[in-house]
Amino acid sequence: MFKKITKKEVQALEKRLSYHRRLVWDELSPGDREKVWKTAEDYKSFLNASKTERETIFEISRRLTLAGFKEVDHSGSKGRVFQVWKDKVLALAILGKEPLSRGMQIIVSHVDAPRLDLKQHPLYEEADLAFFKTHYYGGIKKYQWLARPLALHGTILTAENKKINLAIGEKEQDPVFSVADLLPHLARKVQMEKKLSEAIEGEKLNILVGSTPIGPIETKERFKLATLRYLHEHYGLIEEDLISAELELVPAEPARDVGLDRGIVGAYGQDDRACVFSALKAAIEVEKPGRTVVILFYDKEEVGSEGNTSARARILEGFLPRLFSLKGETLSPQILDVTLTASRAISADVAGALDPDYPEVHEKRNAPRLGCGLCLTKFTGSGGKIGSSDAHAEYVYWIRRLFNQKGIIWQTGEMGKVDEGGGGTIAKFLAALGLEIVDCGTPVLSMHSPFELVSKADLYMTYKGYKAFLRAS
Ligand code: MN
Ligand code: MN
Repeated sequence: MFKKITKKEVQALEKRLSYHRRLVWDELSPGDREKVWKTAEDYKSFLNASKTERETIFEISRRLTLAGFKEVDHSGSKGRVFQVWKDKVLALAILGKEPLSRGMQIIVSHVDAPRLDLKQHPLYEEADLAFFKTHYYGGIKKYQWLARPLALHGTILTAENKKINLAIGEKEQDPVFSVADLLPHLARKVQMEKKLSEAIEGEKLNILVGSTPIGPIETKERFKLATLRYLHEHYGLIEEDLISAELELVPAEPARDVGLDRGIVGAYGQDDRACVFSALKAAIEVEKPGRTVVILFYDKEEVGSEGNTSARARILEGFLPRLFSLKGETLSPQILDVTLTASRAISADVAGALDPDYPEVHEKRNAPRLGCGLCLTKFTGSGGKIGSSDAHAEYVYWIRRLFNQKGIIWQTGEMGKVDEGGGGTIAKFLAALGLEIVDCGTPVLSMHSPFELVSKADLYMTYKGYKAFLRAS
């Protein structure tokens, strides 16, 4: 006979069987809550020091050196080492007690972010003003870069082979730069009636750099010459030096707290520096791990991981033999294969969080939310998982069990509705080496904008989750 189920039994069933997304804020102990705020303060200073890929690598090296890590070829490293390539890629390792062939715990992330790069012939004048021409880097919405203060960062080699690292526009007394936007009164035909993707042309992203001429004297290009004179007087540059230079325009503001309760960090470049910071902090705190820990910070992710500083370059292949020799273990092609196959990795990249103003692009059951913790993403890609490294069930199980055991508040999420768009990460390039890898990172609102938003609670869980991963045996 059919037995009537009680309300209490339904509740018990619900509790036992159903999955519930959890809010980090609901689960934090008072001690952890304190650590959330403290971690965010350190994070903001990390972001302020790390506006470009080179500055990020420099800041990581600085923090590692302070924490007692040594360059890999340095003697007396005590098993905590790092190596830098071309000032744009860094690998660190903490040698474990077990042999390398038992496998490593690896986290990979990227240090580059979308921005405006100067062209090689950047400087020109028009209508009594001097400008720099740019070519944008990575996926930007061009309108977001108009009419806002920008800072100029980069590296220049002078004709005398002197290397100059620039950063103009970050200190309060510094000048800033700007792309002027058209007044609304005249924008109707050339901007407003066009599609958003066509309204702002790439060739109109020109940076106002000067407005005072040389003179008064009859000569061509007095404004351009005044800019060159300034660059020569202050940095010893001639125009040809700009051809080899790497100069980048990034938003000039420092990281800020967002909201009355200050629960969110607003800043440029949090894709992927939220994960970079979390992985670095976790690694620095790991002592004497069982399995060897390796963290890789790559460049050029935002342009498809092309070039010799990207995740497609043979960085790990160059780094691993050094670890074998540091540990005094023999390396052969077979042992390398065994080591990689036995290794576990996290592709530490941010996840696009559910935007409450645009629910139509998300599939709300499978979209990550701000405040619900570290986001585990089984697969990325677009239009049929194309371009994705789809993590295996066994590995996703292993990592979810680890997070649960260690009290990590995590969620799962994919980027947008099926066929809405999508995007990939560097997971697939590492997966090609044979290791297990899954995407796992911090949810971000306003991703790829000049002012990205990250929950301090999620940042803290990212760090805690990575640390639990690095310590796992
Ligand atoms: Mn990213
Ligand atoms: Mn990105």
